[in-house]
Amino acid sequence: MTTYAPLLKKALSPSLFALLQILGQRGDAQKLNVFLVGGIVRDLLLGRPNEDIDVVVEGDGTAFAKELQMLFGGKVTFHPSFGTATWITAKGQKIDLVSARTESYKAPAALPTVEKSNLRADLARRDFTINTMAIQLNPSSFGQLIDYFHGKADLEKKQIRVLHHLSFIDDPTRIFRAVRFATRLMYKIEAATWKLAQEACELVKLLSNERLANELQLICSEPHVVPSFQMLDALKIWKTLIGFPFTVNNEAHLKNWLEKRPILSKDLDWFSCLAVIGYTEEAWESSLQKLAFTHQQKRFLTEVSRLKDYFKHERNLSYGELHSLCRLFKEESLQFFAAKPFEQHAALIESYVKKRNNLVPLLTGEDLKLLGFEPGPIFSEMLLSVECAMLEKMIQTKEEAINWVIHKKQKG
Ligand code: ATP
Repeated sequence: MTTYAPLLKKALSPSLFALLQILGQRGDAQKLNVFLVGGIVRDLLLGRPNEDIDVVVEGDGTAFAKELQMLFGGKVTFHPSFGTATWITAKGQKIDLVSARTESYKAPAALPTVEKSNLRADLARRDFTINTMAIQLNPSSFGQLIDYFHGKADLEKKQIRVLHHLSFIDDPTRIFRAVRFATRLMYKIEAATWKLAQEACELVKLLSNERLANELQLICSEPHVVPSFQMLDALKIWKTLIGFPFTVNNEAHLKNWLEKRPILSKDLDWFSCLAVIGYTEEAWESSLQKLAFTHQQKRFLTEVSRLKDYFKHERNLSYGELHSLCRLFKEESLQFFAAKPFEQHAALIESYVKKRNNLVPLLTGEDLKLLGFEPGPIFSEMLLSVECAMLEKMIQTKEEAINWVIHKKQKG
């Protein structure tokens, strides 16, 4: 029987390797089988870095975690609804421990009912064969690979394969996961699995918007966003979810945006990628509303929609006009609008953003008070008018700005 102990030793840091040995020894002391499972086993076999330690215990995983903490210190957090525990060791290493369990699904896309079980059943509830491998940690079998579902063969064939034909019906988030692993590893989705994903595509509508957003965010945080979007399109996910396909124009927009986008918050990063889908369509904003949760995402949608409106019918706007309309718009909304290929106003917008960023105010509220203005809405009106005039190069000095507002005041 091949042992993967040397591979574990080579791939992991010495402290982590020692920790896995300790987990196995404590397993023996408690008469429990203990296994390393999931993504880390897959990545170990692929030679990809991963130190996310998921451990399955045939027995009570949470009691095992408690005992580890008592013996070795650190901190344990329990997640009772999942029957899992996270042990942060005294040196800060995070280990997720779970009792081997089986899952059943009462309805498509519903969350599963969970019961304690053995390793095989625990692995059988997982998404793809390549994620079902386990490595035993108990000393007498330390490093032994357990591969009930031929995950290793699928790694060699470079394919993503589900374990059973109801997999996507039980949990349609797996469609997104399949795409994410396929593009990340440059694997194909095995033919029967692809067909099952196609057949289940309508079910993504049943997922809560939070679960959907989570999957989309994960896809967008991987390096290969464009191929993932193309694959989701081939599975008709965009049409089902947003109402539009991912067109060639969308693709060019996305590529351009991914290259040029400023540093964005996590909220906006994935959402802005999603926002290229259906971008030229009338119902674009309303179709994306359901996935815009945060204030930032909603604001982004509204601002880009307004920009689309302002520039409808090839209208030309001067810097001053643009500023009076968009002075409060975030840079990311403006840049997103400008990233659409063949956008006639891209250069204007980009140059406006630069000018706006370099704008040094010539007047302040204090100056206006000294000039006899009563504090109120007139203040922002005047300051905006000065900024617009600066962008139009009509005024350049403080003196000119003072004359400008006095003149405005006289005109009423
Ligand atoms: P990543 O490298 O992206 O972190 P991972 O394989 O470690 O990938 P996680 O999302 O951390 O993925 O999940 C850990 C393990 O739990 C997976 O390897 C898989 O076995 C299982 N799993 C996660 N999500 C699902 C799901 N929706 N259905 C079935 N099994 C899942």
